[in-house]
Amino acid sequence: MFLSITDVFKIGVGPSSSHTMGPMTAAAHFLADLRRGVERIPGAGDLGGVSATLHGSLAFTGRGHATDRAVRLGLLDMVPATFDADRAETLDTALAREKVLHLDGLPPLAFNPETDVIFDYGPALDLHPNGLTLRAFDTAGRPYYTQVYYSVGGGFVQTEAELRAERDSDKSAVATAEYETPYPFRTAREMLAMGEASGKTVAQMKRANEQAVHGGDVNARIDAIWSAMDSCIERGLNTDGILPGGLGVRRRARAIHDKLMAERGTNRAQPHVANDWMSVYAMAVNEENAAGGKVVTSPTNGAAGVVPAVGRYYRDHCIGATKEGLRDLLLTAAAIGGLIKHNASISGAEVGCQGEVGSAAAMAAAGLCAALGGTNEQIENAAEIALEHHLGMTCDPAAGLVQVPCIERNALGAIKAVSAASLSLRGDGAHFMPLDNCVQVMLETGREMDEKYKETSRGGIAVNLPEC
Ligand code: SF4
Repeated sequence: MFLSITDVFKIGVGPSSSHTMGPMTAAAHFLADLRRGVERIPGAGDLGGVSATLHGSLAFTGRGHATDRAVRLGLLDMVPATFDADRAETLDTALAREKVLHLDGLPPLAFNPETDVIFDYGPALDLHPNGLTLRAFDTAGRPYYTQVYYSVGGGFVQTEAELRAERDSDKSAVATAEYETPYPFRTAREMLAMGEASGKTVAQMKRANEQAVHGGDVNARIDAIWSAMDSCIERGLNTDGILPGGLGVRRRARAIHDKLMAERGTNRAQPHVANDWMSVYAMAVNEENAAGGKVVTSPTNGAAGVVPAVGRYYRDHCIGATKEGLRDLLLTAAAIGGLIKHNASISGAEVGCQGEVGSAAAMAAAGLCAALGGTNEQIENAAEIALEHHLGMTCDPAAGLVQVPCIERNALGAIKAVSAASLSLRGDGAHFMPLDNCVQVMLETGREMDEKYKETSRGGIAVNLPEC
């Protein structure tokens, strides 16, 4: 499967790519099926209503991640890329009052927001922890059409049939058969070999693949992604207040940024204050995400702060930074994110936070290394260092909200990414542990991780909250 830079970096809405964006997208796909005119279940009359059941992690952390609201808004024809918060509020309020969906191209559909989003706290569905069943009924309440979806991380959604087919197939065959790309690397090892044979950098190969698959102006697409990331940082740096959800977590990015600005150019700043700059950029993004704002999956919403923070650090703090360097950073990061998603997972519900913030740090480290002139070997080394030192990291968000530990975790992920890039640039790229092996270790560790540490809010920080 070819993962475009616009797949890895999707402009969307917080707080979670797998628990908010994915379910909203699944609902949109379900409506598209109904509009296409699906084959109804035998005995069904005219289409008359819909319901949704959340399974596994979507049920356990669904309220904190606003999954029920995301499904409602998806059924109201909203999609993450064009999300409009004011319109969402208006439509959601009307739905609560009328309990009917009025949608173009479909008859009025009965849907009671109070009772038609069902949280199934039993065992997760077989194929993935993030399962979602959408059902349509006829006007007499008989089953009309059912589809099971999985939100597999980063806002990606697959039907049960699609995910089963992918699991049953040879992944490498899928990767090459779907799209013709000039550099169809499926592993880091292949990426390095193709780079050596062609004399091209990772960013150049990724750019050529993007051009071959999507054509058009690749720079315009990259610049749009960066613009959305940078705007998100700016909004986060300029907003105060308490984050929603009931934990009472206060936004900190603005106050930290004000202090950093006041210290700038004085002799009061310690050398390690550079870490605070990386942190404040990441925290700004993750506070926006926690507030349900507009963010870019990088590769997920929970981990959305790391790559933008490192991009901003490069642009505003690194000597010799250029616009082209920033584009190379994002292209290289997307290449590494694609490798990790293809060969392991970027879903916290599937492999823990090592798959979210760990992947984001690997992507950012590789990207910064590229932007600072690293060789392909140094880039691979940077990604490996960053991922290796997130191995084993669990996902146990307090109250199922993407706040504690997520916001600070992104800050530390950014710091590790910059350190990994810097370390790799001090060497010649030769190193002990290949990135491919590290990705495999991450997958195996995630598979053996106890379920309570995989975005179920049943272990760790989630069950050790301070007394208030
Ligand atoms: S702990 Fe990590 S994986 Fe879990 S929700 Fe937070 S950022 Fe995502």
